Amino acid sequence: MRIKAQVAMVMHLDKCIGCHTCSVTCKNVWTNRPGMEYVWFNNVETRPGVGYPKEWENTDRYKGGWVLRNGKLHLRAGGPLSKLVNIFYNPDMADMNDFYEPWTYDFQHLHKREKGESIPVARPRSMITGNYMDKPEWGPNWDDDLAGGSENVPNDPNVRKLQEHIKMEYEKTFMMYLPRICEHCLNPSCVASCPSGALYKRDEDGIVLVDQDACRGWRFCMNGCPYHKVYYNWNTHKAEKCNFCYPRTEAGLATICSETCVGRIRYIGVVLYDADKVKAAALVENPKDLYEAQLSVFLDPFDPEVIDKAREQGINDTWIQSAQESPVYKLAMKWKIALPLHPEYRTLPMVWYVPPLSPIMQHLTNEQNLSADGYIPAVDQMRIPMEYLASLLSADDTKVIRKVLLKMAAMRVHMRAKTVGGINELNKS
Ligand code: SF4
Ligand code: SF4
Repeated sequence: MRIKAQVAMVMHLDKCIGCHTCSVTCKNVWTNRPGMEYVWFNNVETRPGVGYPKEWENTDRYKGGWVLRNGKLHLRAGGPLSKLVNIFYNPDMADMNDFYEPWTYDFQHLHKREKGESIPVARPRSMITGNYMDKPEWGPNWDDDLAGGSENVPNDPNVRKLQEHIKMEYEKTFMMYLPRICEHCLNPSCVASCPSGALYKRDEDGIVLVDQDACRGWRFCMNGCPYHKVYYNWNTHKAEKCNFCYPRTEAGLATICSETCVGRIRYIGVVLYDADKVKAAALVENPKDLYEAQLSVFLDPFDPEVIDKAREQGINDTWIQSAQESPVYKLAMKWKIALPLHPEYRTLPMVWYVPPLSPIMQHLTNEQNLSADGYIPAVDQMRIPMEYLASLLSADDTKVIRKVLLKMAAMRVHMRAKTVGGINELNKS
C-alpha cells in the first residue's frame, strides 16, 4: 500500500447562486495579466449549456482524456505520431474561437458619447486586431441564466443537437450552475500529454502544477485535459492552470474561490488514498463502474493500520488529522452524496459535486411530500432530469444519482421535522 495525501474539494450544487464571485476573485488573484485575458481558472457554467471553452464536453475536435483500448489506457489527444505532426500544425487544438475574444470597455467612448435616445453600448474590441467586432458571437457566459428553453442560443448545429438531445421544451425548462476548476486528478492526462515533462503532480498534496521553466509551449496539455482546464499564456508562451491556491493552502488558508464563495458551496479537505490502486481504478472496463472504482482507492483515515502505514511512509499527524476531519472524506467517501464530474474520462477527478435537489414537478399531497416514503415518487419528479445529472456525474448511471437524491431528500425531511416542528404535527392539519 503506497499511501498519499490529496487535497480535494466538494461543491454543493444546490447552494450555488451563479453570482460568479469565485471566478472574479480568482481572476483578480491569478490571471489578471496580459496574455491571460481570456483565461478563467475558475468558471461557472449555466447548465444545460455549451460551457467554456465552447462545447468542451461534446466536441470530438479537441477532446482529451484517456480511452481504453485492448485493456490499456491511451491518451485520446496525442500519441507519438500525432505529437510529431502537432508540433508543426494541429488543426484540432482548441483555439481562441472556442474560448472567446476578450475585450476592454472603452470608457471614454461611453462618457463622451453625445446624448442620444438609446443608452451607449460598448462593442467588444478584438484583443488580436484591436478592431471593434461587429457582432459578438461567443463568450464564456453566453448561456448565463438563459436555461435550456431560450431560443437565444448561437446558431450552431451542435448546440441545437444538444437541446434536442435533452428534449428541451419550454414547460420542462430547467437550469443549474456548474462551477469548475482544475480537478487535480489522481490520473492526470495533462501530465501524461506534456512532451517536456513540465506538468507534474505534487507528491505532498496532489496539486497539479506547471513548471514554468520547463514548459516549452507545445500546448498538448490543453487538449490532453478533458476538462479543458489548462490555458496558454499568449504573453509568456507558457501553459498555466489552477494551482489550488497553493501559496494560500500552504499557509493554512482556503483557496480564494472558497473563501469568497457567496453560497458557501465549497468544502475543502484532505483525503488519503492508495496510489497503487489508481491505475487499476482507471482501467475498469465499464464506465458505469468507474465511480465505484474511484471510491475504492480511498482509505479510511480512522483505520489504525492505515494510520500506522501513513506515519511509516512519512505522512505526518497534521495531515492524518486533516483527513479525519475532512468534509470531502465525509461527503464523498463516507456518506457518498458527492460524485466526480465525468468519471468516464478516467482521470479520477478530485473535485466532487453534490447534485442539486431541484423542485418537484408534480403536485404531491402534503402526506406524500412530507413523509420520508413520499420522497421516493418525489425524487423521480424533480425538475432537473435524472438523466441529465447522470450524464454529468455518473457516466449515465441514473441509479447512482437517484440514490444520492434520495439520501438528500430524506435528510431534508429529517431537518424539516426538527426545525418546523415535526412531520406528524404538520400531517395532522
Ligand atoms: Fe490535468 Fe486538471 Fe485537467 Fe485533471 S482537470 S487533466 S489535473 S488540468
Ligand atoms: Fe456559485 Fe459560490 Fe461561485 Fe457564487 S461564488 S457562483 S455561489 S460557487
